[in-house]
Amino acid sequence: MKDINSQHETHAELREGIRALCAGFPAEYHRKVDEARAYPEEFVDALTKEGWMSALIPEAYGGSGLGLTEAAIIMEEINRAGGNSGACHGQMYNMNTLVRHGSDEQRRKYLPRIASGELRLQSMGVTEPTTGTDTTQLKTAAVRKGDRWVINGQKTWISRVQHSDLMILLARTTPLDQVKKKSEGLSIFLVDVKEAMKKGMQVRPILNMVNHETNELFFDDLEIPAENLIGEEGQGFRYILTGLNAERALIAAECIGDGYWFTDRIVAYASDRVVFGRPIGQNQGVQFPIAEAYIEIEAANLMRNEACRKFDAGMPCGAEANMAKYLAAKASWEAANACLQFHGGFGFACEYDVERKFRETRLYQVAPISTNLILSYVAEHILGLPRSF
Ligand SMILES: Cc1cc2nc3c(=O)[nH]c(=O)nc-3n(C[C@H](O)[C@H](O)[C@H](O)COP(=O)(O)OP(=O)(O)OC[C@H]3O[C@@H](n4cnc5c(N)ncnc54)[C@H](O)[C@@H]3O)c2cc1C
Repeated sequence: MKDINSQHETHAELREGIRALCAGFPAEYHRKVDEARAYPEEFVDALTKEGWMSALIPEAYGGSGLGLTEAAIIMEEINRAGGNSGACHGQMYNMNTLVRHGSDEQRRKYLPRIASGELRLQSMGVTEPTTGTDTTQLKTAAVRKGDRWVINGQKTWISRVQHSDLMILLARTTPLDQVKKKSEGLSIFLVDVKEAMKKGMQVRPILNMVNHETNELFFDDLEIPAENLIGEEGQGFRYILTGLNAERALIAAECIGDGYWFTDRIVAYASDRVVFGRPIGQNQGVQFPIAEAYIEIEAANLMRNEACRKFDAGMPCGAEANMAKYLAAKASWEAANACLQFHGGFGFACEYDVERKFRETRLYQVAPISTNLILSYVAEHILGLPRSF
């Protein structure tokens, strides 16, 4: 099969390195993990041992000291090779939150241990069942009691908790009716997952459409040390937004990786599959949706590069990160549809991996931010239309 890549691919050496690792984990590996609803332990361990999971940790703390641009390429290549970065991308977007907003002491305590693979920082707890995307209304509260924070509330859809040692948690520390702006009074904390599960945090898995380990969390007087607050009390929403922009750019890269995977597969299949005496790919009705998806993946790729460039330069990148996520999720979904459609019945056979990748890429129209909410952000924050909420 001929690999169809971007017309403007960069970072050849980095890509070669990650492609070499991914080659040791072929489609059959990811298919079996999916069938067993298991966690790709061996794959994530290999990524950690080779240093890919510590890309964003500064060299002074034992990491590779790379930027979001490179982290995004790592995630893209995993999906491009038929894997699913969803198993491990949390470490990338959470890392920025800790590196940028953590204290020196927190950085010294955790970063070297994360870089060595001793600890995983794969989880971020934001979403709640009763408030959903309306994040500032969240109900989970943290109350300071001496040298501890006491946490009560509930979260939902919190991923990789059972495969992570640490979680970044967003909770309200000043009640909503006592703050000037609803985005104030929220704080972020570093939670030791295993300790929390022993006293005050209950984890209930949610069986879902993809093999994405995700959970409901219940906090009942969970006590965590006061020093686990990240940054300044009450500024957590601002900090979490940095992480969310990184997350959007990374997810965009994953969708782009998926998009090229779908394009490869369907170009190869449509060139070979002969029906009515000629390859199905000779029909323009088959060619055009594939070409259209490829054009959109390429456009999304450019926007993703720009989002990462701005993020790495410390520039505001909310617009680009959101638009990249929107374009990439849409493009990969269109590529997925064309790939499934033109495989005919075979698209539904698990051994082709198309149905698995189809399910995996579909998630990104909804999470980590739904398409509608990105349109709303662009309409109101960029175009200046009247606020709807
Ligand atoms: C597999 C999976 C893993 C996840 N992992 C995590 C995680 O690790 N951590 C975490 O914090 N969260 C996680 N999430 C949660 C995810 O971020 C949310 O599901 C997503 O942000 C949408 O929120 P919601 O489900 O509450 O939808 P809601 O906010 O209830 O919205 C439902 C739908 O209504 C529409 N909608 C809502 N409001 C508006 C509006 N004002 N205008 C137009 N349309 C609107 C949107 O289309 C949206 O899709 C995960 C979700 C899934 C499915």
